[in-house]
Amino acid sequence: MLFDNHGRQLRYLRLGVTERCNLRCFYCMPEEGLPWSNKKQLLSYEEMLRLVGILAKMGISKVRITGGEPFVRKDLMPFMADLSQIEGIEKLSITTNGTAPTRHIEALKAMGIHAVNLSLDTLNKERFHKITRRDEFDQVINFYQSLIDAGIRTKINTVVMEEHNLEDILPLVELTQKDPVNVRFIEEMPFNGGSKGYQKIDWNYKKILQLIAEKHPTIQKLDDHASSTSYNYQIPGARGSFGVIPAYSRSICGTCDRIRLTPKGDLMTCLYQNEGFSFRDFMRQGASDQDIQEKFMHFFKRRAKNGFEAEEQKSQPNTFESMATIGG
Ligand code: SAM
Repeated sequence: MLFDNHGRQLRYLRLGVTERCNLRCFYCMPEEGLPWSNKKQLLSYEEMLRLVGILAKMGISKVRITGGEPFVRKDLMPFMADLSQIEGIEKLSITTNGTAPTRHIEALKAMGIHAVNLSLDTLNKERFHKITRRDEFDQVINFYQSLIDAGIRTKINTVVMEEHNLEDILPLVELTQKDPVNVRFIEEMPFNGGSKGYQKIDWNYKKILQLIAEKHPTIQKLDDHASSTSYNYQIPGARGSFGVIPAYSRSICGTCDRIRLTPKGDLMTCLYQNEGFSFRDFMRQGASDQDIQEKFMHFFKRRAKNGFEAEEQKSQPNTFESMATIGG
């Protein structure tokens, strides 16, 4: 088992495979996109497999593929199939915006995918276009329905944004009455690739929950697993459940079991930390597996206690970064 300097067990890797995305969600990146890295600057699939293999030996057992939009990177499916074969990796999941062709869903099922997290901020086509600046709503809804039909464990991630999608909160909660889906409302975070700057949010998880409880006073609290990122609830009799993720309030850091490798191979042991150490450069300079393992351990034993401590140590404001380059 792998522990950090605060006694938290580390189990979970979020692996960003690309920074690129085919949507332009205004809270994530500017309309013109980000200064994308070229292919050489990104980890190759072989390098990712090597790092995951080492981390699996150290105690990481869950991997979630993210980005950018993972399906934008060529040959993602064969890569994921290889990843699913690594000894010690018990759960492999993916976060996607759902714009990929639905034919990939069968392949995900065949490789035993644990869950698919679908990012969907609205159930309204016009609002979808305003938020994402792209016209992919019908495709995403089709992708969602195909996931449900295929019986794949599905979560919907919804970033809650004042003036943009508050009217979607209740319809999304009510979707859980019909479908076996876990809808999670995420507080908006300051990582937006320079799109805008802000110091606080109004719609925190408490306010989101209050709005839901006013309409559905009988909602029941569910047991959250030990390192859950969300506080989970259910409408009595519903097929699915919903939750709130205090991503900005950071009340869940005490049980955080996650680390990230960015598409460029930087290690992030906290979402709010300064730039991470480059395992890409370390590997390309000839580091052995033993060297890499020791280097990982060095950083695992220096993890910030929480997102506030990590943020204090930053040299530049969060708004210069995007969740797409960090690996959301
Ligand atoms: N393209 C994939 C997707 O859409 O799920 C994976 C990458 S995306 C960056 C991962 C998640 O980060 C999405 O659910 C997205 O909504 C979320 N995200 C991006 N910027 C955010 C922000 N500023 N605050 C909160 N969540 C954000």
